[in-house]
Amino acid sequence: MKFQPADYFNISHIEPVTHIYGPGSRYTVWVQGCTLGCKGCWNEEMWPNRPRTLIHRFELLQQILRASNIDGITILGGEPMQQPENTLWLLSEIRKHSSLSIMTYTGYEPHELKQMGYWKPLLEYADIIVAGRYQEDKRNTYLRWRGSENQEIFYPKRSRLDRHSHETNEIEIIISEHGNITTLGYPELKK
Ligand code: SF4
Repeated sequence: MKFQPADYFNISHIEPVTHIYGPGSRYTVWVQGCTLGCKGCWNEEMWPNRPRTLIHRFELLQQILRASNIDGITILGGEPMQQPENTLWLLSEIRKHSSLSIMTYTGYEPHELKQMGYWKPLLEYADIIVAGRYQEDKRNTYLRWRGSENQEIFYPKRSRLDRHSHETNEIEIIISEHGNITTLGYPELKK
């Protein structure tokens, strides 16, 4: 197959099932690369744009459509909208070919996404959008699905999901079949 970098995602990490990045059980993809540089970001290892794991977008789509026991997918990072063509393609294909719900994170503000021409397609494909920079001085680990109080959750008109009704601190510990332990979320008590 001809190598086509334009059609490849640069991926940092994939968890086939998580429960804290959106409602229900979710296939969760962390993309690699973010230039937004939020002070206090917990995912600095996902900033560099150098290739980490390159996956053809069609292969990623197939993996998601083949996944079992999930209610939806969540894409975060890193910055999904710094791989905009692939991200929007993936979300539209998932919407077209499955009933999986779609949640995306982005560090961009809605007005920036509008300027870049990405806000409209995001509203069309996503069921939940969490938008905005992480702001360290507004950090609150008791918010559901976001890290700082300025970040906003959007349910577009076409959303198939109910609005969440309460804030909570959620963490998730995943133990692989080889005994590797992955902790997701921010295990911190309020001071
Ligand atoms: S947008 Fe997200 S990944 Fe990028 S620097 Fe900010 S918090 Fe980190």
